[in-house]
Amino acid sequence: MLASWKLGRVAGIDVFVHPTFLLVFLFPDVLRNGLLAVLFVLAVFGCVLLHEFGHALMARRFGIETEDITLYPIGGVARLRRLPRAPGAELLIALAGPAVNFAIVGALLLLGGMGLADELAGTATGFFLEQMVVVNLFLGLFNLIPAFPLDGGRVLRALLSGWLGRVRATHVAATIGRTLAILFGLTVLSTWNLLHLALAAFVYFAARAEELQVVHEERRRRYDGDNQGIWVAPPGYRWVQRNDGVWQLAPNVVVHGGPYVGPSPWR
Ligand SMILES: [Zn+2]
Repeated sequence: MLASWKLGRVAGIDVFVHPTFLLVFLFPDVLRNGLLAVLFVLAVFGCVLLHEFGHALMARRFGIETEDITLYPIGGVARLRRLPRAPGAELLIALAGPAVNFAIVGALLLLGGMGLADELAGTATGFFLEQMVVVNLFLGLFNLIPAFPLDGGRVLRALLSGWLGRVRATHVAATIGRTLAILFGLTVLSTWNLLHLALAAFVYFAARAEELQVVHEERRRRYDGDNQGIWVAPPGYRWVQRNDGVWQLAPNVVVHGGPYVGPSPWR
């Protein structure tokens, strides 16, 4: 696995970019459109980063720190010190990401309504800002699709938890997540867009992995309560049991569907 490059530290959270991110710049659309396309890609990933900070800062309100945020070509990954167990906290943390994108849309539409749209009509800046409205609308809506473990799936799990309990709620949300991942994978199969296929595969396997984690976690809580004894995991990790029964540490990650599933002005 390639090591990520550190971009900096914002609000006490390290921000990294994974080397595979550079693949984004090799896309034919980006190569063909040169500098403007590069600026567009950077702006889109800037919005993804703001989305991640929406989650991270809301998590902080519930006493959960974020270890780091990493940008990948399929989107952003925030590594929380622990995952929220209370449905209310999970709901608000999951909604905070898309809420940031909708806030950007609202702010741009407001500026447009105040005369900026007329002033910039026909200019490259006007076009750029229009695309930012579309991209943020897309980022907010795409992540609200109830494909657990995307944000919408976490919202669904949180809503079902009070009614079904955490394990069954996770099972229902993860089953829907896997089904949507298969459907998405089949629909993009014809285009052979590798990033789309990677995202479909990722959602499919991540849904299964997190479901297993929750089952084991809840089983252990029944035995030990909150007393984790020697089982205290280092920050950002938790104990999970593999299929062969061996316990191992796994990072707590929250994943967000990425820009390259979304609209591109040059397609
Ligand atoms: Zn998100």
